[in-house]
Amino acid sequence: MDEGSGGGFVRTAVAARQRITRGMLGAVFNAVLPRGCAGCDMPDMVLCPSCEASFARPRCYALGGVEIGFGYACAAYRGAARQAVLAWKDHGDEECTPMFAQALAALALRVGIRESVRGREILIVPTPSSSRSVRRRGRWHMLPLVRRLARLLRESGVNARVAPVLTMRGVAHKSVEMRGSSQRAGRVGGHIVMRRGADVEGSLVMLVDDIVTTGSTMRQCVGVLGSGGAIVLTALALAQAGESQRNPDRQPAVRRGDGLPVDESCP
Ligand SMILES: [Zn+2]
Repeated sequence: MDEGSGGGFVRTAVAARQRITRGMLGAVFNAVLPRGCAGCDMPDMVLCPSCEASFARPRCYALGGVEIGFGYACAAYRGAARQAVLAWKDHGDEECTPMFAQALAALALRVGIRESVRGREILIVPTPSSSRSVRRRGRWHMLPLVRRLARLLRESGVNARVAPVLTMRGVAHKSVEMRGSSQRAGRVGGHIVMRRGADVEGSLVMLVDDIVTTGSTMRQCVGVLGSGGAIVLTALALAQAGESQRNPDRQPAVRRGDGLPVDESCP
């Protein structure tokens, strides 16, 4: 598309389309207006092959409290991958959800989730968003993502179930009387707490977030889940800011006594 008035119109129209993604009006816009790749604006694609490939370059970071010892991300948080994640997260580009779920499922299988759970049920726990963020975005963007991820994992023989057990303190369930594991969990993890009535005692868990920057949110979530008696296998994200500590493809995973994969090249 050249930089003439036609391009300007299309850009304006696409911006309008991105703002209006819900309801009947959104459906009309989706039908009549063109879209570009969420990562690079290539016409008529949700995510072009090149941008999609950037979500198949796993990264990892040391993460205490998880069985595998590391958290992983599908992509580096930069360039087209960053653009695509932001289009999906903050600009309502929900058409990215299926491809992002696919990338997360591939990563989960790559780091050995199927072998680790060995037929047991694994809870897929999304990191919580504040109700303010949910209002601003008009949706909790993580929920359809983890639902689709769980379905893909089940199709791959992993007994996965979505369990949105975490929430933000002071935003929801503020005055809820917590008991047992929920109460213990509620005392750690800063503003992230266990949802009312949630019970993760003895459950296998995989955490899922959109973007990992310092890893602080993941650590809080791992702390809360661990205090609630969950066994957190690992934490996955779509994109990771900063440098990867290693490339998971460099060396094959080795097995510890409990059957969980550990890559010795991880620091
Ligand atoms: Zn692209």
